[in-house]
Amino acid sequence: MAAVHESVLDAIGGTPLFRLARLGAGLAAPVYAKAEFLNIGGSVKDRAALSMVLAAERDGLLKPGGTIVEATSGNTGIGLAIVGRRRGYRVIAGLADKSSAEKADILRAYGAEVVRASTAVPQEDPRHLFKVMERLTEEIPGAWLANQYDNLANPDAHLRTTGPEVWEQTGGRVTHFVAGVGTGGTITGTGEYLKEASGGSVTVVGADPESSSYGGGDGSPWYVESIGHYLHPDTVEDRWPQALRSEAIDSYERIPDRESLLTARRLAREEGILAGPSSGTAVAAALRVARQLGPEDLVVVLLPDSGRSYLSKVHSDAWMREWGFLEDGDGLRSLLEAAGPLVPVAADATVGEALEVLRDVPGGVAPAVLARTERPYGVAATEVVGSVSRAALEAALADGTVKPGDSLGALLGPALPAVGVGQSPAEARAVLGGACRSVLVLVDGRVAGVLPREVLG
Ligand code: PMP
Repeated sequence: MAAVHESVLDAIGGTPLFRLARLGAGLAAPVYAKAEFLNIGGSVKDRAALSMVLAAERDGLLKPGGTIVEATSGNTGIGLAIVGRRRGYRVIAGLADKSSAEKADILRAYGAEVVRASTAVPQEDPRHLFKVMERLTEEIPGAWLANQYDNLANPDAHLRTTGPEVWEQTGGRVTHFVAGVGTGGTITGTGEYLKEASGGSVTVVGADPESSSYGGGDGSPWYVESIGHYLHPDTVEDRWPQALRSEAIDSYERIPDRESLLTARRLAREEGILAGPSSGTAVAAALRVARQLGPEDLVVVLLPDSGRSYLSKVHSDAWMREWGFLEDGDGLRSLLEAAGPLVPVAADATVGEALEVLRDVPGGVAPAVLARTERPYGVAATEVVGSVSRAALEAALADGTVKPGDSLGALLGPALPAVGVGQSPAEARAVLGGACRSVLVLVDGRVAGVLPREVLG
């Protein structure tokens, strides 16, 4: 018989393990998933939220009538909203502008106030979500910033609960623990406990988006929410969270977005587990780890949240197709190959530099991108800030408005519309509408090429 609790707060944690029998078929080592989406607020972050609020009350940082403030990709805010409202506080959740609309709606439903701000600017920028929330905390009397990234009550929650649960549920047989790394709280606390309990024999593996800098990528953007470490090209200081103690992690598996997203979809279809995209990253990593192991090993992979928050994203065929993650026909693939490789222009280039780049570009139009540096994982669509056209530059030079050494400035046109490689030429024409002459084509959320209207039929 299931437990009876006097408060939902008593029901946080205690999540089951499910064997991934379908996705792990043919592997010698069993792979078990820790179902954190079954927490009361739908994610692993309920544990950290409860732990941080109780610690803040204990330390006198949060007093009756106080306000909880936090920057969140969604789930920590939901956990804080549940715990905070239940214990009588006002809750303000600062949500990254790339987080899903569902998360904002859920936050409001639990009684949190939602503030949207960007995480796509350097952390020092006053518009950055973290800075906006710091300012609010200073302005509101009795406000406390939970600060999950540097709050040690976050990893502590997992040291006290998630770690012991995994150890007990597997009867001490777990040999490998795999989890994504956002704040690092989950993997640090759980990993440290399992290492301690096993006398150091459990291997802890971080599941990281391929371009995230935790696992060795360049920090350029990726498409799995809530995990990884992003580095804006203008970032001055690369700070890693204090909730992440890197010694707890033995190695990283670096997972491309397509593999993460398709694995999340397989989890739903083949295992009956509707989970979020970071669960896809974690399971993809766990399967890679398990392929190297034998029957005496046992892998536990942590699934942080539910797929219900992403029905408009990873679990939507239309979204997957629009961002170039799903191709179920020829789509634009053959037109893209005929068009040749992508040639981007750095948005802060000079007119002369841009013309040099554009000289041999068919159609004479290129996307202007944020980064000057090479992007080994491709130019993410989210890094495109505008467009540059050879004709416009030449005209401005000819009439003397600009000189070759000037920056592009006002000559930067609007960002071109984009379609996924799996979309049809007719869909691309519809996206172009009346005003634009070229369309960007995305493969795996990265710009793979530019197609002029003429080739779309
Ligand atoms: N996946 C999801 C969906 C999350 O919300 C989070 C928390 N930001 C993580 C993974 C990463 O967990 P942690 O912050 O404990 O590293």
